[in-house]
Amino acid sequence: MRTVFITGASSGIGAACAKVLAKEGNYRLLLCARREDRLAQLKEELQQSVEVEVHTFVLDVRNKEEVFTAIDTLPQEWKNIDVLINNAGLSQGLDPIQDGDTDDWDRMIDTNVKGLLYVTKAVTPLLKQSSNAHIINLGSIAGKEVYPNGNVYCATKHAVDALNKGMRIDLLPFGIKVTAINPGMVETEFSEVRFHGDKERAKSVYNGLIPLSGEDIAETIAFVLSRPEHVNINDLLIMPTAQA
Ligand code: NDP
Repeated sequence: MRTVFITGASSGIGAACAKVLAKEGNYRLLLCARREDRLAQLKEELQQSVEVEVHTFVLDVRNKEEVFTAIDTLPQEWKNIDVLINNAGLSQGLDPIQDGDTDDWDRMIDTNVKGLLYVTKAVTPLLKQSSNAHIINLGSIAGKEVYPNGNVYCATKHAVDALNKGMRIDLLPFGIKVTAINPGMVETEFSEVRFHGDKERAKSVYNGLIPLSGEDIAETIAFVLSRPEHVNINDLLIMPTAQA
């Protein structure tokens, strides 16, 4: 039984990972996000459908002290973390750099880059105790390319790409596997968050193609996690077939 810790588990890809891994039957789930009600709802849904151990807690990954205290004060039986899925993240705004909102920039940099770093540093001592440890970083096609008006979000995901490479080098001596999962468009709450709740605009980005689902990404992650000990899939790009 492996214990997996998923950040940003209250919706989208994070919640889908929880559901897919719960069904696999060999994972215990440690789930966090800011929205407590959504975590409670997910926990109930999971435990009604399968037999799985779940522990949830509220965490804003941008808050350094909160991150270290949360990991430090986990119940003893949840400190044996084997897998960290660094999934919490967001995009806000889609404007040329000269029109960008600096608060949007702060939220993206603080969550996608600094939050990921804080959580990784806090959890790594626990991963070092595991004989089957793995860090999954949610990157993006935006970490491989830069698209019009993507500027700051693309910069944060390019940072995740670099950190994924750096983590692999640094954690190699401890046998900790490191993988970046880089999706194209996935239909989640991501687009609505990007456009500050504008549902119409959020929907319109999927016009003309079938986007990936959170489950598509979760199933890929389950596959990556199930490889034998000597195999580390380090970097994976997964796109909707019709996305340019
Ligand atoms: P969602 O908006 O559906 O999910 C994002 C999750 O992150 C939510 O659970 C949210 O929970 C959590 N989150 C956001 N900010 C914080 C924070 N400060 N502290 C803790 N949790 C936070 O989007 P996705 O599922 O699509 O996104 C998941 C990841 O996938 C992100 O890193 C995103 O950049 C990446 N990605 C998404 C793509 C897409 O097209 N959807 C494409 C490529 C990559 P809460 O609000 O409750 O805190």
